Amino acid sequence: MSVLKIVKYGDPVLREPTKEIPKVSAKIQKLVHDMFDTMYANNGVGLAAPQVGESKRIFVLDCSTEEEPMPKMVFINPVLIKKEGAMVSWEGCLSFPNVFIDVKRYSEITIRAKDIKGKVFTLTPEPKTLLCRAIQHELDHLNGILFVDHVVDRFGTEALLKENALPPIDPVKILSEPDIDQILQCSI
Ligand code: ZN
Repeated sequence: MSVLKIVKYGDPVLREPTKEIPKVSAKIQKLVHDMFDTMYANNGVGLAAPQVGESKRIFVLDCSTEEEPMPKMVFINPVLIKKEGAMVSWEGCLSFPNVFIDVKRYSEITIRAKDIKGKVFTLTPEPKTLLCRAIQHELDHLNGILFVDHVVDRFGTEALLKENALPPIDPVKILSEPDIDQILQCSI
């Protein structure tokens, strides 16, 4: 068990595509335990393997709140099998210390992944919940996508990044999300 170093925005590993896990070996299980230790040590809700410098398709989550305890969750080789609706989500990221911004997300999803024992499971979180939003945030990390790529307020976010001595938004990486934009516009 150990707390690993968290990679900060600007490190190229956060933009690299990650590799599938062919087998949930003891080595992978140790990495998962270390990722939980690292996430808890930094008061995070979720952590993806690239954030500890490992280009692997793994993320961990614990969306517990004081009112509602939730189980620790491990997602290995996750695949989004349903995405619908749209919402704006207030998010932070352990690779972006002190940066909290609004980003665009789907409001309903279903994900399939393997757990720490290598068993396949399918999960449909309650729409618009922290769990629903956090899964999308962490899954993005496995595809080299960062929450600033879904930005709602580009110029406000640029200012926050600058204040925190982080690199600016990469305009090439900003996602075109016409389906989400359309639903968000209708709901205003
Ligand atoms: Zn993150």
